[in-house]
Amino acid sequence: MVVCLDQWRAAIVGCDDTGLPDQIRDIEAVSRMLHAVMLEAVAEVEFRNIAASTGFGTTKRLLAGMLQLSATEAGTRVARATQLTARRTLSGEVLPPALPNTAAALGAGEIGVGQVRVIAETMSAIPASVGVEQREAAEADLARYARSFTPTSLQKIGRHILAHLDQDGPQPREEPEPAAAAGELRLRERRDGRLGLEGFLEAEHSGAFRSLIEQFAAPRPAAEGIPDARTTAQRNADALVEVCGLARAAQDCPTTGGEPPHLTVTLGWEALRTGLGAATLDYGTHLSASAARRWACDAKVIPAVLGGGSEPLDVGRAMRTVPLSLRRALVARDRGCAFPGCDRPPGLCQAHHCRHWVDGGDTSVDNCVLLCETHHRHVHCTGWEILIHPGYVEFIPPTIIDPDRRPLHNPLRC
Ligand SMILES: [Zn+2]
Ligand SMILES: [Zn+2]
Repeated sequence: MVVCLDQWRAAIVGCDDTGLPDQIRDIEAVSRMLHAVMLEAVAEVEFRNIAASTGFGTTKRLLAGMLQLSATEAGTRVARATQLTARRTLSGEVLPPALPNTAAALGAGEIGVGQVRVIAETMSAIPASVGVEQREAAEADLARYARSFTPTSLQKIGRHILAHLDQDGPQPREEPEPAAAAGELRLRERRDGRLGLEGFLEAEHSGAFRSLIEQFAAPRPAAEGIPDARTTAQRNADALVEVCGLARAAQDCPTTGGEPPHLTVTLGWEALRTGLGAATLDYGTHLSASAARRWACDAKVIPAVLGGGSEPLDVGRAMRTVPLSLRRALVARDRGCAFPGCDRPPGLCQAHHCRHWVDGGDTSVDNCVLLCETHHRHVHCTGWEILIHPGYVEFIPPTIIDPDRRPLHNPLRC
């Protein structure tokens, strides 16, 4: 083992920039496989009841004592060993693991402990009324998605799967009528003049509230290249104040066809085409041309691009179609951000041109896809390819994410 690790260290130092991500991937895969082997060892300790013969009583206590694990961590290992290793009956019969697909994926180094935790939690949340077949299908789906998604995204997918399972299951008979939605918000004047807020919102209102606050709380760079120094909590507070300001001004807020007032971005055609150079906003603020290119990618932006002598160039041909009808068609197909694992609703999305209109791409359903601000930025910067098929969209990850570039779709939209 020591020799093997030293070979690895030498390989890390010796490999070039393109080879290093492969090394990282290999090391991660082996550490996951090793975790699977660890669980097999734990299962064996449990089967032989070594805890009893050594005076620890339970395998959990034995592991915690042996490896200096917290009680929670030791308990999780024992639970995972029970779920992910072959089961043996008292008569000696060997049965497959309780979560067979998850066990196989971990054993092959394709998923990590974070994904395993989400799958175990989701599976335990399936109501008892759901049949074995559906349960097995859910586990297979989760293990498949776990290969491509982070634990956070997988959790959303898990909730999506649970909601679908619940629909099919029989209604619980003696469930009391849910009480009318009753959130609480307490305002406490503090001695220093600040206002303390405390309370909760009912689940049905949390989505609307969160999406609005999160939209306003998105980090804003102080200047190009200088990240927002505010904490998430500070950004949330600023967002709430901003939303209050908007609500106050709502009656006399000027709008253009239901859209907020437009912002004029001025930049040269060459800068927009290449993404190099700088653009100017209404108030003289500067913006990088690549950011302007991203903004201009959204179908809501009407281009008025100036040529060398500041003469307007006629590049808006495709943009003269009615953006609203296009947007409705995109909402009908994508139902929100189409990026794999994202659940942002259509209201927080922009229409991304897969082939930028500056490069001759059409403003059409076949060339546009809804993306939230974060994922819009992400696809512009990181080399994801988007394939638009009739009725659905596929995303092909860059090689650094998946060397095989297997296409992904957003499971939250089906
Ligand atoms: Zn775009
Ligand atoms: Zn998104």
